[in-house]
Amino acid sequence: MTSPYTVIRGGLVLAHAHAKAEPLDILIKDGEIVAMGPPGLPAPVEATVVQADDQLLHPGLINAHTHGHGTYAKAMGDRWSLELLLTAGPWINGDRHLEDKYLSTQLNAAEMLLKGCTASYDLYSEVPIPTAEGMNAVAQAYVDAGMRATVAPMMADLSFYQSVPGLIEALPEELQKFVAQLAPQSFRATLSGLTDFLDKQRNPDRIRLALAPTIPMLCSDEFLQTCGEISAERNIGLHSHVGESYVQALTGMKRYGSTIVQHLDKLGLISPRFTLAHAIWLDERDLDILAERGAMVAHNPGSNMRLGNGIADVNSMLERGITVGLGTDGSNSGDNQNMYEAMRLASFSSKVRGPDTERWVTTEQALYAATEGSAHCLGMGEQLGRLEPGRKADIVFLDLAHINWIPHNNTVNQLVHLEDGLALRHVMVDGQFAVRDRQLTQVNMPRLRQQVEQAQERIARNTHDKRHITEKLAKAVGSFCLCLGHDRYHVQRWAHPSQDLT
Ligand SMILES: [Zn+2]
Repeated sequence: MTSPYTVIRGGLVLAHAHAKAEPLDILIKDGEIVAMGPPGLPAPVEATVVQADDQLLHPGLINAHTHGHGTYAKAMGDRWSLELLLTAGPWINGDRHLEDKYLSTQLNAAEMLLKGCTASYDLYSEVPIPTAEGMNAVAQAYVDAGMRATVAPMMADLSFYQSVPGLIEALPEELQKFVAQLAPQSFRATLSGLTDFLDKQRNPDRIRLALAPTIPMLCSDEFLQTCGEISAERNIGLHSHVGESYVQALTGMKRYGSTIVQHLDKLGLISPRFTLAHAIWLDERDLDILAERGAMVAHNPGSNMRLGNGIADVNSMLERGITVGLGTDGSNSGDNQNMYEAMRLASFSSKVRGPDTERWVTTEQALYAATEGSAHCLGMGEQLGRLEPGRKADIVFLDLAHINWIPHNNTVNQLVHLEDGLALRHVMVDGQFAVRDRQLTQVNMPRLRQQVEQAQERIARNTHDKRHITEKLAKAVGSFCLCLGHDRYHVQRWAHPSQDLT
């Protein structure tokens, strides 16, 4: 019989973002850290011994915002704003069978694990509507890959076109007909189809459930309020893209007569269970509300730059004590799933906002966001994010002989500003190797590759018409949104000195 104990000996341990790396042994029982101490830590004789000499051990990184459906669409676009990405949706997310939902998510999990990430908050978009069957396949893909996830179905009861005042009217007639078919079904039908998913938590140790009303403007107020009620009744997370783009900020003002955050607060949605993805176009009052209500932010600096959404004012969030997690966003908008890069960009992007060094995000803050901050967003703030007794043994092992660490000057600076995942050797989740010697232990990558590539060939054939029509739509949507940008908003988040877009 295998022992429930594992002891890791000889490693240099960075226990959390504010710690100093020190030589420590780690004793694990049934997936949980039970003791840590100087080399020679007593352990039961039957414990499995893992030698970690010349390796740095740090808490598994946690991705606070990703999309499992996005992997099939990695690198499909360039010069896509958020609105152009949404326009491409019927093409790049089209023709997905149940098996594709599993495979695309497993591809997401595989990339994250290989790059040192042990848990994620996955907002999965099933087209045309989320189903219990589809969301269970998503959850199973994470479990089978050996990873942890909080899984949230993305939901809407309005199409993107219905959500932007004046957009449909600005389209040529042929395109108006196409977008009319994209209107989602009623939210009650959507929610009733998800009951089985919400009621049956199949693997509560690895999988948490949440709800993701995708973007507030794509949801009626009644829908949003209902999501808030379900979140409170079941004590599960809520996650939404809030203030991601200037188009959203302006549309919010037109629709609600207030900022989006102030409107959501009126509906009672802003709570400690609520994570706002991006949160770029928020004003001072909005941030005060988040702080007062204990809501959290999932910061996605890579995606924010790739989609031209601007740079979130993370320092103003941290100054208010708002919990900030860090994410990559989906591969359809952030392309890679590299949390080391996300930390680097969280630091670097704050440093181009202005000259006051006191307002820059520090490497400790970036690492905290990628570990404990994200853990809170996932609803696992007490179990994950640090290496200490009582927490899950989700551990990344980096090779200190790798060039990234020669010489080893400052552990946290080096982890955030220099490490890119190339020094990674092993990854443990619950004290079990999910990656060993740079290979996934539970995913057959050649097989996964073959399955994904076969599916992608089929999808390319079957979405050809949608590609054609969404490319036509993109021209109309792009120019409409650019015109919208001439309306002033009272917050400015681009590196461009004014809101004049030309
Ligand atoms: Zn997203």
